[in-house]
Amino acid sequence: MFKRILIANRGEIACRIIRSASAMGVETVAVYSDADKHALHVKQATVAVHIGESAATASYLDGQKIIQTALDTHAEAIHPGYGFLSENPEFVAAVQAAGLVFIGPSSDAIRAMGLKDAAKQRISEAGVPVVPGYHGSNQDPSFLKQEADKMGYPLLIKARAGGGGKGMRLVSAPTEFQESLDSAVRESIASFGDGAVLLEKFIESPRHIEVQVFGDSHGQVVHLFERDCSLQRRHQKVIEEAPAPGMSDEVRSAMTEAAIKAAKAINYTNAGTIEFIVDGKGPPRVDGFWFMEMNTRLQVEHPVTESILGIDLVEWQLKVAAGEPLPLQQSDLTLQGHSLEARLYAEDPAAGFLPVAGKLHKLNFAQHCRVDTGVEEGDTITPFYDPMIAKIIVHGRTREDAIKKLNDALQNTHVVGTETNVSFLAALNQHSTFVNAQMTTGLIDEQLDALLPDSEPQVHERLLGCLALLKWPENSAQRAFRLFGSASKRVTLNLNNVAQTHRLVFESDKSVHFHTDEHSDEPDLTITLDEITSNQIRYQENGQSFVAHAFVWHSMQSGDAYAWIKQGQLTRTFISANALASESQSAGDTNRVLAPMTGVIRVVHAKSGASVSEGDPLVVLEAMKMETTLTAPRDGVIEAIQCAPEDSVSDGDVLIQLVVDDEDASSQ
Ligand code: ADP
Ligand code: ADP
Ligand code: MG
Repeated sequence: MFKRILIANRGEIACRIIRSASAMGVETVAVYSDADKHALHVKQATVAVHIGESAATASYLDGQKIIQTALDTHAEAIHPGYGFLSENPEFVAAVQAAGLVFIGPSSDAIRAMGLKDAAKQRISEAGVPVVPGYHGSNQDPSFLKQEADKMGYPLLIKARAGGGGKGMRLVSAPTEFQESLDSAVRESIASFGDGAVLLEKFIESPRHIEVQVFGDSHGQVVHLFERDCSLQRRHQKVIEEAPAPGMSDEVRSAMTEAAIKAAKAINYTNAGTIEFIVDGKGPPRVDGFWFMEMNTRLQVEHPVTESILGIDLVEWQLKVAAGEPLPLQQSDLTLQGHSLEARLYAEDPAAGFLPVAGKLHKLNFAQHCRVDTGVEEGDTITPFYDPMIAKIIVHGRTREDAIKKLNDALQNTHVVGTETNVSFLAALNQHSTFVNAQMTTGLIDEQLDALLPDSEPQVHERLLGCLALLKWPENSAQRAFRLFGSASKRVTLNLNNVAQTHRLVFESDKSVHFHTDEHSDEPDLTITLDEITSNQIRYQENGQSFVAHAFVWHSMQSGDAYAWIKQGQLTRTFISANALASESQSAGDTNRVLAPMTGVIRVVHAKSGASVSEGDPLVVLEAMKMETTLTAPRDGVIEAIQCAPEDSVSDGDVLIQLVVDDEDASSQ
């Protein structure tokens, strides 16, 4: 076995590889970019070497630098993880030319499968069914159109060099063909530097089922059963499972035999996956699956296979790369139970799943599940790489049991600081079509509305947000009630960039009346507050008890206060406009608003004589190339404005004077 290996990757997969290597007594060398200086994989490895700037091309994709680092640190082998250089045959050849071992297949095998057209040709010659279509070399647009018309519609245009769903277009009618071809070619050239495409019949009601294969250098190949990855968005997997629901022994044999045939046809060694598209109208059939492509690496979703077989695929990879035979024979491999994996991302489902960067103020994973992650609390999701936070993996006796466990695991996953897809994942895991195992790859798109939380926060969610944002002395409800005793408090929330001021009236009997419109007399909701701590709110509504998790933090940049609320499956992050600015003021004299730093006044919102509520924006100051909004430190009336737009002001200058509003004072 190797004494030391280098891991040419980052994030969860780098940590995953370190875990197995360490368990085997193999030392690890981590490489990292500027952005990853404090990353978990850097801390966990035996040795860590900085290799370049944050952009992947300057670090994780710099093959020469990585090979030199391996030589310098006396690593004997390189594990590429997935993505980055993992499927780059030139990199594999360079690793070997440097006298190092590549933990993965040969460069020939990667090359044979690297382009989808050549791969289909090769695999079809080996006697494996491939998706019907055109995968020849003639790329003349009018010729391709003829082929398309012959095949009929709907069809898919695919970049032969494609991956990650890029360069793929669905064409439903002949009139759309030319435009789709042009855009597929454009995207393919931009992403892969190759504009060649293939045409494929679009399999309707498709399921994505793939077979994990493993070969050693002694000519043995085994299959490690199948995974169903039909839950996809933009052709990217979201939740994966093993085994595939509804799979009969007969179809399983046919598919796994085909996969082994495909792997043997290219003398495949190490871990690989044969992806099939399956006719999902009814249960899988022996004549209803077709080869799509082969991924010549360890896959993101490999943990579900590990779970049902009780094996460690990274350990297998290291052993096989070191020349050992496969640890188990086909007959030793029996599947047990059912496993699910959900990919947790820092992204905003409500904003079209836009990836979001941000600091993970709080990161809490559930017990009783496997979590593969590359980040820890306090880390930042940077805009440079994939925004994956973690993979959450469960194993159950049955599929039903696994679904229940995944639901629990997602319920108890608390990520604070960035939006995530956790509620979306939970909704997907509970969607009846998935629960009843009737999903096809179109499920997410078709059911998107049902899977997304309401964009407008409901009344009780807003109330929880306001409660969290109010500063609780000693975080105790009793103390708070003593303090507020029948007081009225206003909280301004930023709701989709509209400031909305809510009013909360506290009664001595622990009831809280919530007015979504601060001026309305009738409360929209009344609750009884049982307990409020810095991370939990317990209350009753109509005699029923509820618990919500809460977390509050400030953005140093904008001065905004954030409240994260989680109740059941719903999570919501509320922003209170510039609470920090008002807090720093309120520490001293709350009758004056001072410039917190030297800068230029850009906007003056305040109007002389106007009543303002705590948190209302008064002045916008530009300093350090950033705009800071200064807000009212408390409720009151503007007495004097001592600044105007474009004024240069210095740290500590008085900008606004406030006086106490009589009416408000009497209610305290
Ligand atoms: P899977 O999720 O089944 O392992 P994907 O094709 O979704 O396979 O890709 C896995 C990882 O590889 C992802 O991080 C993805 O961003 C990356 N990836 C996929 N294709 C490419 C490519 N052509 N170039 C660079 N990275 C890729
Ligand atoms: P990539 O290299 O981007 O992963 P694939 O060829 O594996 O490309 O296809 C990605 C996804 O697109 C599949 O998982 C499947 O959901 C869908 N898909 C691909 N080919 C077909 C097809 N012929 N019919 C229907 N869906 C398809
Ligand atoms: Mg694929």
